[in-house]
Amino acid sequence: MKNTFKLFAILAAALMLAGMFAGCSESDTLVMATNAEFPPYEYYDGDKIVGIDVEIAEAIAEKLGRKLVIEDIAFDSIIPAVQSGKADMGVAGMTITADRLQNVDFSDTYVTASQVIIVHKDNTDINSPDDLVGKTIGVQLGTTGDIYAEDEDIEGATLERYNKGFEAVQALQQKKIDAVIIDDQPAKYFAEQNPDIKVIDEPFTVEDYAIAVKKGNTELLKKINDAIRELKASGKLQEIFDKYIGD
Ligand code: GLN
Repeated sequence: MKNTFKLFAILAAALMLAGMFAGCSESDTLVMATNAEFPPYEYYDGDKIVGIDVEIAEAIAEKLGRKLVIEDIAFDSIIPAVQSGKADMGVAGMTITADRLQNVDFSDTYVTASQVIIVHKDNTDINSPDDLVGKTIGVQLGTTGDIYAEDEDIEGATLERYNKGFEAVQALQQKKIDAVIIDDQPAKYFAEQNPDIKVIDEPFTVEDYAIAVKKGNTELLKKINDAIRELKASGKLQEIFDKYIGD
């Protein structure tokens, strides 16, 4: 009798545990894939990932009543992660491009950005995109800086691809390359941290950032767009930008 009771208790406990795991199913979390090397949009503050995109994603998760989980992966793995369903959304200062639209759907845009050129402070001969002819240019692999520099087919220029934007910046500091093409806000951030580099005023391209979801996931896309619209209307989106981008 005693043994039967024990068995029953164990079974009951096992069932409760199973129930707890079931309760913690995927739909309770909202998984964001990003590459946390992109300040001020996503970067590490100690061991915590913070930034504009993180706060936007937090606000979306809150509206959906789900808990935000951040997966920090290589930038060029974000779209595959969204396609395979490993992540619910890609939030990574990601620019809408025609090519990417073949593989994922994009939300409404939440900010307009640009690609800019950074050079060493000592450099006087690169003052606009036209001056990149014959130069060695650093880009982050798979980013629009990479794609557009390739598309432009700048005469005599050599492209050096790095896994992280900051690695390109380091190569520039060491004068291994002549210029880096990177998004405007990270460029500003890196230039503030490193007085030996400067940002060229004239942008290389202008582009829109948006959130990527799996193709055909209209349900999530609609919720994300509703959340973005509300964040814009309430002024919360502006607040988030102001918090991370000073003037
Ligand atoms: N905006 C650029 C792109 O979409 C770079 C994004 C990034 O490096 N996180 O390719």
